[in-house]
Amino acid sequence: MNRPTTRSEELLTRAQQIVPGGVNSPVRAFRAVGGTPRFMASGQGAWLTDVDGSRYVDLVCSWGPMILGHAHPHVLDAVRQAAARGFSFGTPSPGEVLLAEEIIARVEPVEQIRLVSSGTEATMSAIRLARGFTGRTLVVKFAGCYHGHVDSLLAAAGSGVATLALPDSAGVPAQAAAETIVLPFNDIAALETAFAERGEQIAAVITEAAAGNMGVVPPAPGFTAALRTLTSRHGALLISDEVMTGFRCSRSGWFGLEGPTTDGAPDLFTFGKVMGGGFPAAAFGGRADIMAMLAPQGPVYQAGTLSGNPVAAAAGLATLQACTDEVYAHLASVSRVIADAASAELSAAGVAHRVQWAGSMFSIFFRENEVRNYDDARDQDTAAFGRFFHAMLDQGVHLPPSAFESWFVSAAHDDAAVEAVLAALPAAARAAADPGRSAP
Ligand SMILES: *Cc1c(COP(=O)(O)O)cnc(C)c1O
Repeated sequence: MNRPTTRSEELLTRAQQIVPGGVNSPVRAFRAVGGTPRFMASGQGAWLTDVDGSRYVDLVCSWGPMILGHAHPHVLDAVRQAAARGFSFGTPSPGEVLLAEEIIARVEPVEQIRLVSSGTEATMSAIRLARGFTGRTLVVKFAGCYHGHVDSLLAAAGSGVATLALPDSAGVPAQAAAETIVLPFNDIAALETAFAERGEQIAAVITEAAAGNMGVVPPAPGFTAALRTLTSRHGALLISDEVMTGFRCSRSGWFGLEGPTTDGAPDLFTFGKVMGGGFPAAAFGGRADIMAMLAPQGPVYQAGTLSGNPVAAAAGLATLQACTDEVYAHLASVSRVIADAASAELSAAGVAHRVQWAGSMFSIFFRENEVRNYDDARDQDTAAFGRFFHAMLDQGVHLPPSAFESWFVSAAHDDAAVEAVLAALPAAARAAADPGRSAP
């Protein structure tokens, strides 16, 4: 029961003439799963409608931002009102203050914050700030963690590059890579060694608060605490990248679930995705003494024509305000129902798999054993995922088109949407079990 893809194919062909690969962000191209990416015409609640008229339950949710579902009336209203007042002023405007206050109220260690336009900009700026504050150069990151496409952070950067089987990106100067120490996630011994050898040169450790870009891999017990203890001991900063987990795993992100360690909270946080409500808004923030280093107060330069854009800020604020305790409870129960059902069907079909969680974020690895790091994540049956993905898509459920991604639900995933997902699972699990069945 293949769905028509004529219009998507036409658009893809046109796009490929003028846009590299036909897409503006690589994972959208379906390279990992094959077939034609669906061009979406509209989204409403939990559903997307493609240009050929097919409807899909959306389990991508724009890779996280659409936590309330598409075109949520409260957010739409806020966007309309903000847009009617003008699109961008290049001056401070009230919405920026409200959004910053909302974020600071939710994430206790964040004393000051600056708004930017993408998660990449947030991590890039946080790294520059950490280097300016410490006067050091080296940055530690973990393999499989993605922090946007910042030169120095593209080494072993998880989903996008993993999907394309690129070891790293071309065009990143060797010097930029040399300033980055890449360690295995959840490996405290490797971290101790790195600090013992080069501790006085390390400006910062950046980590995904809970990894979501190699599939979902939460920090093992004691890992976050070790990060905090070692960075503090050696005078380095700890940057918690909550671009994906922020305001998603709980009202205060992953930090809200794990809390500060005995040695304290991270020094800096980065945010994006949910806090923009589907518009380009992101942020970095943390300790006031560190943030004071930023221009115009201090010597670390950072700026943006559209930073704190009034329409994006209004969308973000309206989204966060609507993210109530009931919304988080709903995300938890819906994600549990979907993951449990998927797991049961995969088991019934005899497909090796493993479900992993960070709050309501989850992913299904097509392997038997726990995934603790990037090497584990890559050791899975991605072909089985591809068959599973396409069987779901044919039945009107749009999963992330890669085995290295989290699945996302929204407040709008109601009984009808969940039922549609559950109905599609048995056939998809059988397809995953059947290597004879080729992907398109
Ligand atoms: C998505 C993501 C980024 C990059 O954000 P963009 O807005 O795509 O630049 C950075 N860090 C993490 C953890 C992310 O999930």
